[in-house]
Amino acid sequence: MEVKVVVKPLEAVETEVLVVTVFEDKLNDNARIKSLDEQLNGKITQLIESGEVQGKFREFTILHTEGIGPKRLLFMGMGKRQDFSLDRIRSIAANASRYVRRIKISEMAMPDFAHLDVSATDCGEAIVEGILLGMYRFDKYKSKKKSPERKLETIKIIASNEGEVEALTQSAQTGNTLASSANFVRDLVNEPSNFMTPTRFAELASEVASQQNLKIEVLGREEMQREGMGSFLGVAQGAEEPPKMVVMQYIGNPGGKTIGIVGKGVTFDTGGYDLKPSSGMLRMYGDMAGAAATLGAIQAIASEKLPINVVAIMGLTENMISAKAYKASDILTSMSGKTIEVLNTDAEGRLVLCDCMTYMQKYHNPDILVDIATLTGAAIIALGRTVSAVLTTDDDIYQRAFAAGEYTGERVWRLPLYDEYRAQLVSDVADIENVGGRSAGTITAAMFLKEFVDKDRPWMHIDIAGTSMMEEEIARYVKNPYLPKEGGTGTGTRLLFHFVKSYIDKA
Ligand SMILES: [Zn+2]
Repeated sequence: MEVKVVVKPLEAVETEVLVVTVFEDKLNDNARIKSLDEQLNGKITQLIESGEVQGKFREFTILHTEGIGPKRLLFMGMGKRQDFSLDRIRSIAANASRYVRRIKISEMAMPDFAHLDVSATDCGEAIVEGILLGMYRFDKYKSKKKSPERKLETIKIIASNEGEVEALTQSAQTGNTLASSANFVRDLVNEPSNFMTPTRFAELASEVASQQNLKIEVLGREEMQREGMGSFLGVAQGAEEPPKMVVMQYIGNPGGKTIGIVGKGVTFDTGGYDLKPSSGMLRMYGDMAGAAATLGAIQAIASEKLPINVVAIMGLTENMISAKAYKASDILTSMSGKTIEVLNTDAEGRLVLCDCMTYMQKYHNPDILVDIATLTGAAIIALGRTVSAVLTTDDDIYQRAFAAGEYTGERVWRLPLYDEYRAQLVSDVADIENVGGRSAGTITAAMFLKEFVDKDRPWMHIDIAGTSMMEEEIARYVKNPYLPKEGGTGTGTRLLFHFVKSYIDKA
C-alpha cells in the first residue's frame, strides 16, 4: 500500500472516498469541514440537522458528491470528544478501509487530526496501522479466497499544513513497519503446528535476519545439552520435532544500551502427561505467540533502525507425550544450576523460558531483560482478553511499559511480586517447584522466572495468554475493528517496539 501525504483543502482533494470524522457532541466545529460544507451548498449541515449524521461512534454515512474533488464523503462517527484517542483513529481507519475494500475501491483519503492536537508524529502511524491491521486476513488454507475484491492500494493523508508533511510521512512509514510486523506475527501464530514447527520457525527467523542484516544463531538439542539447559530440554524430550533456540542480535548503537527480549515458543502444547482437555488443547498452536512477538519486535526495531541494541531469544519446542516425555515429579537441572521439581507438565513455558533467560544473561548481559509469553490461564481470569499482565519489581520499567501500552492500544496492567508468593513454590526435594497452586497463578509463574534473573538486573515479565489470540464470542464485545475476530492478534510487537524506543534518549 502506498501512502501519499498531500496538503490541500478537503474539497480539492482528488479521491474516490474522503473520510470525514464527526463527533457526537461537536458536530461541525471544524474549519476544514466548514469550507467543504460551503462547497456542497450546506449538504453536510443538512445531514447533521436531519439527524442522518449523528457522530455516534462506529456510525457511518456515505454521501455522493458532484463538482468537487472527492467523489464520495464517508462520514465516520467518533463518539464523544472526551473519548477521543489515538486508538479511535486506528479504529476509524480500520473501519473505513474495510468499507472501501467492500465497495471495490482501491484508494481513499483521510485528513490528519492536527485540529484535535494529535501530533503528526503519532497520526500517520495510527492511520496506517489501523488500515493495515484492519484489512488483515488469514486465508492461506482456503482454496477459494474470499477476495475477488480489490485491494486498497493508495491512501492519501491530508496534512493541515506544509510543516506537517515530513513528520506525517515518517510516522506513516513507521506505522507501515509496525503493522506489517504485527501481521507477520499474526501469520506465525495462525499457522497450525504441523506447519509451524520449531524448525520452520527458526527458518523464518533466519529469513528475517538476512533481510534485516541481523546476527543469528540457532541452537539445536545438542548445543543446548552442551549448555546444560536441562529445564528447556526436559520439556522438549517428549517431542519428535527437534527443539530450537534462536538467538538474534540487532546492533543499532554500538556500545550503548542493550535490551534482551526472551519469547516463549511452544509450537504446540498438549500439556504433556498432565494432558489438557480437548477444549483447552484446541488453540495450542498459538502457544508460541511470545516468540512470534519477539521476532516481530526485533524485525520492526531493525527495520526502523532504532539507535539501540536488542538481543532476542526464542525458545521453541513442542510439549508432547511419548515414552520419552517428562513426567510429573521429575526433577530437572536448569542451566543456572537450580533444580526444579516438575509438579505439572503443563507448566512448561516457564521451564523453557528460564534456561533462555540464563543463556541471555550469561552471553549477552542485557541492561534490561524482558520476557513475553502465553504463560498462564490465570492471566485471563485476572485481566480478561484485552489487557496483558506485566510483572516487574522496577517502577521505571513499568511506567515505560504502561505508556507503550496506552500509546499502542496493547494495554498492560501490573500485578505484584511480593516475596510471600515465593512460598508457594517451595519444594521438599528440589530448589523450586514449577507450579504454585491455584491461587495467584500469573504471579507465581512470574515468581518462578524471577528466581532465574540475576540480582539487580532490571526485568519485566509480560503474560499475553489472554491477549495473543481473539475468539469470536469475545470479539463480539471487544468490538475492535483492527483486531481479527478469530486467531492471532499480533499483540506484543508494537508494545515491545515502543517500550524499547523509550530507552533511546537515555542510551
Ligand atoms: Zn502448558
